[in-house]
Amino acid sequence: MNPDRQRPLEEDPNPAYRLGEDGRVPTALPAALAGPAAAAFADLAESGPSPRRFELAFLPVLDDARYGVVYVRGSGGTLYFGFGIDLELRGAALTVELAWRLQEGYDELPGVPGPLHPMCSPGHGHPAEATLTGDEAWWVCPETGTPLARIGEYRAPAGD
Ligand SMILES: [Zn+2]
Repeated sequence: MNPDRQRPLEEDPNPAYRLGEDGRVPTALPAALAGPAAAAFADLAESGPSPRRFELAFLPVLDDARYGVVYVRGSGGTLYFGFGIDLELRGAALTVELAWRLQEGYDELPGVPGPLHPMCSPGHGHPAEATLTGDEAWWVCPETGTPLARIGEYRAPAGD
């Protein structure tokens, strides 16, 4: 094992990689987070590997009930990345927050090709951006502001 490695590139048998905050093993997402997180993660995976290779998990922050940590882990339990979430967020604001935080770490997951997830319009050299539009959560082009799809309804553009 390479001791300089910060993050395992594949499932790692070292049980330390399965532990989150305070050495606890993350459990299932709270119901309020599960739906929007799964929807956003599926959108990211439209041009990457199957989301079934990964699952989302959660730990509450022990000394502040308002916050939790969401993790993305492999089927063997290896945690690839995690981020804090404000548990008072609701609706589209929660969806946008989950989407951009999941997007931020997504291209570091094993097997994910390149950084453009979800892809913006063909020929654009950037990914779509999770944005609160009115009271809805959308993927939009960060250059033109063009709405591409509601978060959870994204489909990769046809062609190449
Ligand atoms: Zn664009």
